[in-house]
Parts: sequence; structure tokens; C-alpha cells
Amino acid sequence: MGYILTEEGKELVATVKEFCENEVKEQCKEFDMSGEFPENIVKMGAEMGLSAIEVPEQYGGVGIDAVTCAAICEEMAKADAGFYTTMSATGLALRPVLIAGSEEQKKWACDIVLNGGQAAFGLTEPMAGSDSSNTKTVAVKDDDGYVLNGRKCFITNGGIADFYVIFAMTNKSRGIRGISAFIVPKGTEGLSVGNHENKMGIRTSNTTDVVLEDVRLPHSALLGKEGMGFMIAMKTLDMSRAYVGAGAVGIAQRCIEEAVKYSKQRITFGSPISNHQAIQFMLADMDIKTETARAMVVQAVLRQEQGLSFAKESAIAKCYAGDIAVQVALDAIQILGGYGYSREYPVEKLLRDAKIFQIYEGTNQIQRSVIAKSVLKGM
Ligand SMILES: Cc1cc2nc3c(=O)[nH]c(=O)nc-3n(C[C@H](O)[C@H](O)[C@H](O)COP(=O)(O)OP(=O)(O)OC[C@H]3O[C@@H](n4cnc5c(N)ncnc54)[C@H](O)[C@@H]3O)c2cc1C
Repeated sequence: MGYILTEEGKELVATVKEFCENEVKEQCKEFDMSGEFPENIVKMGAEMGLSAIEVPEQYGGVGIDAVTCAAICEEMAKADAGFYTTMSATGLALRPVLIAGSEEQKKWACDIVLNGGQAAFGLTEPMAGSDSSNTKTVAVKDDDGYVLNGRKCFITNGGIADFYVIFAMTNKSRGIRGISAFIVPKGTEGLSVGNHENKMGIRTSNTTDVVLEDVRLPHSALLGKEGMGFMIAMKTLDMSRAYVGAGAVGIAQRCIEEAVKYSKQRITFGSPISNHQAIQFMLADMDIKTETARAMVVQAVLRQEQGLSFAKESAIAKCYAGDIAVQVALDAIQILGGYGYSREYPVEKLLRDAKIFQIYEGTNQIQRSVIAKSVLKGM
């Protein structure tokens, strides 16, 4: 199926693909081994505008359509899912500002991102992952503004962000309706970077704790109104999930390409393994799953762009694409046999990278809850 792209979209995706093939893929393979952050590659990606693909035209963005954005996400993740995660986490942090920010906040945040800056979305805490109602970070209001205290964990770009969107309780008695969202610029006194995660996959992305100790913010740091934080976070995640699905499709597509390449070269019993029907059927199933996931992504982003309801479709795209990326990566390893299990070949990394797509931005169990709620409501 592929993406049905405009001529402009095709050109843009081709440019991104070339950059990802030439600059990201091989270098990030080395950084995956060492666990170092690929600072220069990220800088180049940001200069190309890859973390700013969703900045609206009215705030200086290029105005890229939704299907092209999805295709760009796929190309980035196909080269390196950690690189994709870095770039897209900035978009994730920008969304709450675009959803609920004042004109001044929107211009400020978009300018940072357009100038190559990164951002971080700070919702998760040690005791509040799927269950945001357990948020312990507090924001206490006084005459001058708010004072924030708490600890966020697993924050992508936590150590490199130029600004953070932090979710904190302003009224504990109201549960999730007592959560508010704040913009915290880098360098704000009291904000520090905690533990760096040593991860199984997407090792080229930066994932840290973010510590808030008596962080004083002006009233103007609040996004929207007090108590709107949970709604802002959920709307943000609904919007970004389809693009997470696109990232997972990128991994699945790369697995197919690596498996096809290998299967044409590897000879067993006098014939390339691609001639064995068992291998062909595996490749066919890998392709069926990948094309179906891509179609789900396209449906979700188009519904979003056309102003239709999209929460269920985004959840399906993220959940299905995340699940099949893991399955397709396992199949790719199987096709490569013992070499698939070796770090000499790329497919073991693809499996490690694929796994996160079932976990972040809401686990696939949580996606199934979202989907089930919508299905039950419709009956
Ligand atoms: C590499 C990485 C990057 C991340 N980046 C960010 C980021 O930038 N910003 C951010 O805020 N967060 C980020 N996260 C956090 C991520 O979104 C959470 O890890 C995720 O939402 C799950 O939360 P948890 O880890 O606390 O698991 P838990 O919520 O404790 O869940 C544990 C298990 O129980 C299941 N479960 C929980 N509740 C239910 C339920 N009601 N029904 C069925 N099953 C349930 C879950 O699906 C899971 O399998 C990141 C995480 C990782 C690993």
C-alpha cells in the first residue's frame, strides 16, 4: 500500500530517507552498542527540522500534512528508533502547548523547536505510569505563582531538553481533575536531571528522571487552567499515538528488508532460503501485518486531520503496530537463524527497539482499554 503522498510530500520523505540512510542508520548502530547519546546526529536532525515537523504554519512551521508526517516518522524509526524517539518526544512535549497554551506560550515554544531545540513531556512518576491519578508531584500556588516539588521518571529527552512540560497536582482532593500542566524552561532553579536509564532498546535516546525541588514558576507558566492537566495530557497522547504506530511500522519494514536481503543470499540445500515456501510464507505474513499496521496509521492520522473522532483509531494504530513490530522482528531473527541472534546483524537490535512500542505513550493494555471503552459505548 505505502503512503499516498503529494509530490511535495514525496520529495520531503525522500530527503529524510536519504539523511536517515546516510547519517543515522550506521552511526546509531555504534551508539546503540556504547549507549552514548548521538549528539551530533540529533543536532543535524533538529537542524533539518525533524523535531519540528508538526509546528503549524502560523507559528513558523512548514505545514506538513499528516500522512507525510507519518511517513517521516516511519523513515526515522526505520533507520534508528532511538533517533525517532528523540525527535518525536519534542513533538510530544510541544503538543500540550499547542492544545492549551496562550499565543505567547505557543510562539515561545515553537521558536525553540524551530531553532533546533528539544523538549520533554513529563507525566510519568515512579508510582504513576498508567495511573496518573497517583501523581505525587505537587504545585502549590502562592501570590507570585507556583512552587513545584516531585520526581518524574522515564522522561525522554530529560537530560537534553530546552523546556519541559510538567504535570503536577494542584488539588489532590480532585484526583485526575486536580492535575495541572506547566512549562518549565531549562535552567530553572530547582530543576535537575536525575538517574539516566540504561535501557534494553532505543539506546540512542536519552531517558532520565527529572527532579523538581522548590521549582518556582510564575503564574504565566500554567498551561490552560488549573485542573486541565489530565485532559491536556490525554488529548496529547491521543494525537501522538498514531505517529508512534508509524514508528513501529518503520521497524517492521526494516525487519522485512533485512530478512529479504539475507534470504536471497543464504544458501541451504543448494538453494537460497528465499526459495523455501516456509520462508516465503513468513515474509508474506510479515508484510501483511506491516501493511495493515500502516493502513491503520494512515486512517488515524487522516481522521485527525479531517477533524473526525480519532482516539480509538489512534489507539488501534499504536497497539496493533507495536504488537506486530515485535512479532515481525522475531520472525526476522528466525529467518536469519543463528546470525539473527548475533549482534553482528541488525535484527536483534530491531527486536530490542520494537519492544518499547508496546510500552511507552500508554501500554498496549491501556490502548486495549481505550478501544474496549469505545467499542462498548458504540453498542
Ligand atoms: C524508554 C521509555 C521512554 C519513556 N518516555 C516517557 C516520556 O517522555 N514521558 C513520560 O511521561 N513517560 C515516558 N515513559 C513512561 C511510559 O509511558 C510508562 O512506562 C508507561 O505508561 C507504563 O507505566 P509504568 O511503567 O508505570 O507501568 P505500570 O502502569 O505500573 O504498568 C505495569 C503493567 O501493568 C499493566 N496495567 C496497569 N494498569 C492496568 C490496567 N488498568 N489494566 C490492564 N493492565 C494494566 C500495564 O499495561 C503494564 O503491563 C517512557 C518509558 C520508557 C520505558
